[in-house]
Amino acid sequence: MSRGVLATEKRGMRELGAEEHVGWDEVTQGTLLPSFEKDVDAAHVRPEERPYSDFNSYTATVASWRVIKPVYNRDICIDCQNCWVWCPDTSIVSRDKQMLGIDYDHCKGCGVCVEVCPTNPKSLLMFGESEETEAALAKWPEKKKKAK
Ligand code: SF4
Ligand code: SF4
Repeated sequence: MSRGVLATEKRGMRELGAEEHVGWDEVTQGTLLPSFEKDVDAAHVRPEERPYSDFNSYTATVASWRVIKPVYNRDICIDCQNCWVWCPDTSIVSRDKQMLGIDYDHCKGCGVCVEVCPTNPKSLLMFGESEETEAALAKWPEKKKKAK
């Protein structure tokens, strides 16, 4: 469904057709780009079950932007939800206050989740994009002892 409006000559405007796509610099300022194909109570529908429109960033992956990625270690995590709260891209997957992992389609590799993780050692660490999860987990650091 498209409710975009395109400027025409002499300050006119017309509605975009359902299948018509234009570049971002051609869309008239103030155009409405709906997030969903139909009304949805997003607060009560799981992200993967919402009827996203083509304009919603959820439908596009940004995985190719990353050069480093966070890897999650379930064995150390205390489900504090810090990473979920602070991730600027809503890329931490959490259900019923339990951390489940990372949405690698939308994670941009900023490392904020690692910074705010309070465990010792951290339950999230950054690795190169091509590192396999098992290999990353095998390199996990030991618990740091407190200095006396
Ligand atoms: S690296 Fe950044 S975008 Fe990716 S999960 Fe962590 S906080 Fe979110
Ligand atoms: S911040 Fe660390 S300990 Fe807290 S839920 Fe996230 S991964 Fe787990």
